[in-house]
Amino acid sequence: MKLIFERGKEGQACTLMPACDVPQVTLAAPKREKKLHLPHVSENELSRHYTELGKQVHGVNDGFYPLGSCTMKYNPKVNEKAAALPGFTNVHPLQPAHTVQGCIEVLKQTQEMLCEITGMDAMTLQPAAGAHGEFTGLLLIKSYHESRGDVKRTKIIVPDSAHGTNPASATMVGYDIVNIPSAADGCVDIEKLREAVGEDTAGLMLTNPNTVGIFDKNILEITSIVHEAGGLVYYDGANLNAVMGVVRPGDMGFDVIHLNLHKTFSTPHGGGGPGSGPVGCKSFLAQFLPGLQPVEKDGALSLVAPENSVGSVKAFHGNFLVVVKAMTYILMLGKEGIPAAAKNAVLNANYMMNKLKDIYPMAYDTVCMHEFVMCLEKMKHDIDVSAMDVAKALLDYGIHPPTMYFPLIVHEALMVEPTETESKETLDEAIAVFRKIYEDAQANPAAMHECPVHTPVRRLDEVRAARKPVLRYTFE
Ligand SMILES: *Cc1c(COP(=O)(O)O)cnc(C)c1O
Repeated sequence: MKLIFERGKEGQACTLMPACDVPQVTLAAPKREKKLHLPHVSENELSRHYTELGKQVHGVNDGFYPLGSCTMKYNPKVNEKAAALPGFTNVHPLQPAHTVQGCIEVLKQTQEMLCEITGMDAMTLQPAAGAHGEFTGLLLIKSYHESRGDVKRTKIIVPDSAHGTNPASATMVGYDIVNIPSAADGCVDIEKLREAVGEDTAGLMLTNPNTVGIFDKNILEITSIVHEAGGLVYYDGANLNAVMGVVRPGDMGFDVIHLNLHKTFSTPHGGGGPGSGPVGCKSFLAQFLPGLQPVEKDGALSLVAPENSVGSVKAFHGNFLVVVKAMTYILMLGKEGIPAAAKNAVLNANYMMNKLKDIYPMAYDTVCMHEFVMCLEKMKHDIDVSAMDVAKALLDYGIHPPTMYFPLIVHEALMVEPTETESKETLDEAIAVFRKIYEDAQANPAAMHECPVHTPVRRLDEVRAARKPVLRYTFE
């Protein structure tokens, strides 16, 4: 498709605005040396441009989007309605607190509900995404050890099934990474963990259920091993959708957590965003939280910085309107709806897994949580059809591919997360597509390398896109 700069021509701009009827002033000082490059298009050309752009991509409103670990659930429209209320949009974060009591109430109530769901004592809504939350949570861990003069704790333990952001965040905070292998069942290898902990352990980062979709049955033992060594335990909350309202990270022994509101709590995700990665902690870490905390006194709310705050990790209160959307979602579901959503997510994943495992071998043949991981190593070996080929074939059927080649401990991995918002009919259709692709692959393996054939673009040079991305339009 054409870029917006390639559409229209000089003088063809939008003509809806009336002509200027006040004297025009030309500012002398901050004058551009070159004319600004702006597209010259009419309003309907502009509208068509964005509509066409929208057709080039696949979103959760286009069809099934089982991107594992990302929880691409449907985002209810009522969330948008609440976030568009003028009381939330026509405010400024520097307004005096007495003029924005309702907004502060939103921050306070959302924090309280998220604390209740996770078993934490305090929360910040400031971080902009999960990875940003990891960075923030690790700053709390670092501040805790430093505040006790315990400066020899320089290492963060990360299992090999972890999301790449875990070691990256720990490195950014200045920690060294200790990688521990998973046991054969995909869970933490307890013996390897015991060997890894020591006087230099600052903490352990863990996702539970983990990235292979399994709830670690030894979680209480794991958190106590780290605590006994003097370390703290960090919960990567990206997979909370499987267990929200059923079990709480706080009760599993975690000290600090992040949540991804754009995953578990149904706010927009993936290009749309913006994201939000609240960080929760136990009371002994609350003094280090970033940003301002809502405090109630004599019936009035105000905002106060925690005593030993690490500072701010983002301006003001993070992505406030995203918080409004997540709050709306939680209130809509209520106490019964939250665990029901988690249980349905688990049910949907197990349903799909059991309808596919006779032809697509699963990496771990057990009851899964909200997602499952296929291992296509045999298919690759036998007929040279890879996980990538199957993923590309799904595109031709209007299905977004599952997460590919993650977690790294499973070869030729496809990680499927249907989520609770898909109906049985949609799951049955997707199952039929997966089965059809399997049959097509057996009949004509070579044709699979050509997929997709019906998408706006075919197979892209992914390495070049990652290494040499072209992110700017160059004008001649
Ligand atoms: C998505 C994800 C993250 C990172 O979260 P973002 O919000 O994308 O920054 C971290 N860990 C796991 C397991 C994830 O799935």
